[in-house]
Amino acid sequence: MNIVSVESSVVSLPFDMGGPYCRFAGKLWDRLEILLVRVETEDGLVGWGEAFGHASIPATRAALDTIVAPLAIGKDASDILALTREVLHSTHLLGRNGNFVYAWSGIEIALWDLLGKRAGMPVYRLLGGSRHRELEAYSSLLAYGVAEIAARNTLAAADAGYRYIKLHETTREALLHSQRAVQGRGVQIMLDVNCPWDVPTALEMARSMRDDGMYWLEEPVWPPEDADGLARVRECGIPIAAGENVAGVHGFKALIQAGAIDIAQPSVTKLGGIGEAMKVAQLCAAHGLRVVPHSPYFGPGFIATLHIAAALPQAPLVEVLWMDMQANPFAPYVHARGGKLQVPQGPGLGCDPDPDVLARYRVGEVHCITGQEVAA
Ligand SMILES: [Mg+2]
Repeated sequence: MNIVSVESSVVSLPFDMGGPYCRFAGKLWDRLEILLVRVETEDGLVGWGEAFGHASIPATRAALDTIVAPLAIGKDASDILALTREVLHSTHLLGRNGNFVYAWSGIEIALWDLLGKRAGMPVYRLLGGSRHRELEAYSSLLAYGVAEIAARNTLAAADAGYRYIKLHETTREALLHSQRAVQGRGVQIMLDVNCPWDVPTALEMARSMRDDGMYWLEEPVWPPEDADGLARVRECGIPIAAGENVAGVHGFKALIQAGAIDIAQPSVTKLGGIGEAMKVAQLCAAHGLRVVPHSPYFGPGFIATLHIAAALPQAPLVEVLWMDMQANPFAPYVHARGGKLQVPQGPGLGCDPDPDVLARYRVGEVHCITGQEVAA
């Protein structure tokens, strides 16, 4: 069945982050936004996807509406891998890691949803899994910049049942405060610093925290594509996680060849969708590396991550941002209970958005790209 329309819309959800709101790419981050992608085929079947996301939504949406969606209209919705090759080749001069690939990721996820609906099977089964219906989540705290607030939220996340908790802080003080807050409870703490340091500084920081027992250190080096620099930091002995900011499977290949990572973090709404994330998982399996997906998402990108994790034999941890949302059109699957997530069992992603929640929290216009616009 051919694709007849691609719609984009934005859902904006109020949330409480357990501390003062922070800034993201220079903008105040006080609403949780999802860039929803709806793909319809000629027989009226609908699939849902999510494209990255957050502060980049206006740019990703422009790439989707003007270039990427028109390339997909009229194409066979089930020809996912070949269509990925075609669309990414058509847009490669516009950027191999950024809004065009993010936009394609949103459509690609929707195509897997369509494929599963047509086959009457959940996506994780299409990907070759069947045993994991429940997954362990890790709680990904937000950036508070204050060690006491990080520790307070660490304790709250442990009380909510999480056994793995990640901080978005850049100080050893924050790490130690949080570890102390949950001492003796068997909770593992990870530290995600988001690429703040040059290599000498990252080495100094890693050496100072070498014996602190953190579960992993994430993205210590600026820029994220400095695989050799990251490999030098890894020699300190702390497990290194990275990958949310590299381009596709070949970005991971470069990290792996440099000996830069212990844990690969493919991000389904950024790197090209479910097919590309599975390629990364296969590459990592061939090199004996762990995969723990990056998923600070609250829509189909999160649900797609659940299916990817459920399809993998190791059933990796799934990242869940630590926050309270007023509502979410993809509840209950975006919420962990007792540190566990349920994998939807319906066909496709198994989780269409709740229309009432969509109607209430959608902002702005729905953009619909059809064959008519493409012909014009
Ligand atoms: Mg990260």
